Amino acid sequence: MGRDYSAMTVRELEAARSLALDRIGAVPAFRRGSLQVGYRKCGKASCRCARPGEQGHGPRGLWTRTVKGPGGSRGQYIPVEQLDQVRAELDNYAQFEDLVADYVEINEALCKAKTGPPAGRRKRAAPAEPSGNKGGPATIGRH
Ligand SMILES: [Zn+2]
Repeated sequence: MGRDYSAMTVRELEAARSLALDRIGAVPAFRRGSLQVGYRKCGKASCRCARPGEQGHGPRGLWTRTVKGPGGSRGQYIPVEQLDQVRAELDNYAQFEDLVADYVEINEALCKAKTGPPAGRRKRAAPAEPSGNKGGPATIGRH
């Protein structure tokens, strides 16, 4: 992460690509979304949580994540004894995202490395605009 892949050779980038994929595969099970932890009043007038000064039932977690389509989000209550596990799963997802971003960078650098030096160093080799037939029918590739 944060490395300059543009200076690497095709061979180095292919090795980095393979390593990055291994790292992605090694990320433990993860989940997206976010976790809120709080106390909640159940609403029963007879319950102790209805007394003034009581913070309510809990703590307990609510894990939510946005989803496509109707509803827009999905939620699940998380018992207090599973909060650490869920936090770890969320961290794993952040790690996964970082690794994927890195993997994308490596792949793009690899594509560039395979097509030659950066464009700035050989501007003359860039394909020239076709001249002389602007607006006319293309003649290349038509049979
Ligand atoms: Zn209650």
